Amino acid sequence: MFSDLAAPKADPILGLTKLFADDTSPDKVDLGIGVYKDEAGEVPVLATVKAAERWLAETQTSKRYLSSAGNDAFNSATRALLFGAGTDAFTRSRTVQAPGGTGALRLGMDFLRVARPGGRVFVPTPTWTNHGHLLAAAGCEIVHYPYYDVATGNLRFDEMMEALRGLTEKDVLLLHGCCHNPSGADPDAEGWKAIAETLERSGALPFVDLAYLGFAEGLEEDAHSVRLLAQRLPEVVIASSYSKNFALYRDRVGALTIVGTNAADSDRAHAHLMPLARALWSMPPDHGAAVVAHVLQDKALAADWRRELAEMRTRINTVRAALVKHLAGAPRDYAFLGHQRGMFALLGLSPDAVRTLREEHHVHMTGTSRANVAGLNMANVERVATAIASVSDL
Ligand code: PMP
Repeated sequence: MFSDLAAPKADPILGLTKLFADDTSPDKVDLGIGVYKDEAGEVPVLATVKAAERWLAETQTSKRYLSSAGNDAFNSATRALLFGAGTDAFTRSRTVQAPGGTGALRLGMDFLRVARPGGRVFVPTPTWTNHGHLLAAAGCEIVHYPYYDVATGNLRFDEMMEALRGLTEKDVLLLHGCCHNPSGADPDAEGWKAIAETLERSGALPFVDLAYLGFAEGLEEDAHSVRLLAQRLPEVVIASSYSKNFALYRDRVGALTIVGTNAADSDRAHAHLMPLARALWSMPPDHGAAVVAHVLQDKALAADWRRELAEMRTRINTVRAALVKHLAGAPRDYAFLGHQRGMFALLGLSPDAVRTLREEHHVHMTGTSRANVAGLNMANVERVATAIASVSDL
């Protein structure tokens, strides 16, 4: 009987949406769920996406089934975006389209059980909460490794490297390719080199979650992590999301890319991915992937999209710098936020402080004090900074 079911644990992010909707203040600010908002607080459809959708509506002649791998043009464009067309990593990789980054992660985790049976998955602390749910659903054994110190706002790099000494050739290392969620703190170039060396020594497999490509410094710069790993290591697995950089959230556009030692190995791995995808969703939704493929293949649209992406990135970085500036007199030094990138900032506030921010200042964020920087704009950033400063020692 359904009535016998225990009450499920409330989803903290969905709970936030309700608290925000119930807040009647005209000054309320939503720094909760991770979506990019423009200066006006809107989550708009990109102009290049609109153009591709018009093109699609006019030229598409059939909606017949494709294969479990999805849209071939999209898959090839994804590899080109990750590695550069024609590069060695491009040639030795294969991509399967998936429903969002979440779908790509889940497909990848199912694949890990085939490719690394009995292996453990090393996961950073903290990490995106859904990583734990996905790994549990896929039946993967989790080992947590220290990554970020909320109290100081720094990477726990040495502790991380110490923990990664425990990796064996059966294991998998989950990494955020850029714009780590929730901290925004990424390794620098030296750090990525050290991680690649550890992986080389241990033989462990890197599984990179790349949900914010283009949101830190630029498309090429942000791809540095996956390019370096693919160059240094025989095998890499990458879960990409187009939810943020194409603002296609609800259209569910993602991709799982496997880099093998050579093209024949990757073809073999790809053949294993197909039945796994078939058992999960049979076939990924085409619309958003067809849109992305068209934008990336059309020179003029691709250039326009790069400009739209740069605009989103620049706005986030500008508002982040403004937040740091207005927090200068706070009881705590928040300068660390200025060195971090992407949509999120982990403020390191107590649950009491987060509640006070919400109830008295109408500033909403997750209970862990993760703030979506993209929810700020030049009109509200000073007020929000003042509010954060006022609760910093609660
Ligand atoms: N990985 C990380 C780190 C994320 O933050 C997100 C989105 N919040 C995803 C993956 C998945 O994105 P989506 O499934 O919406 O494409």
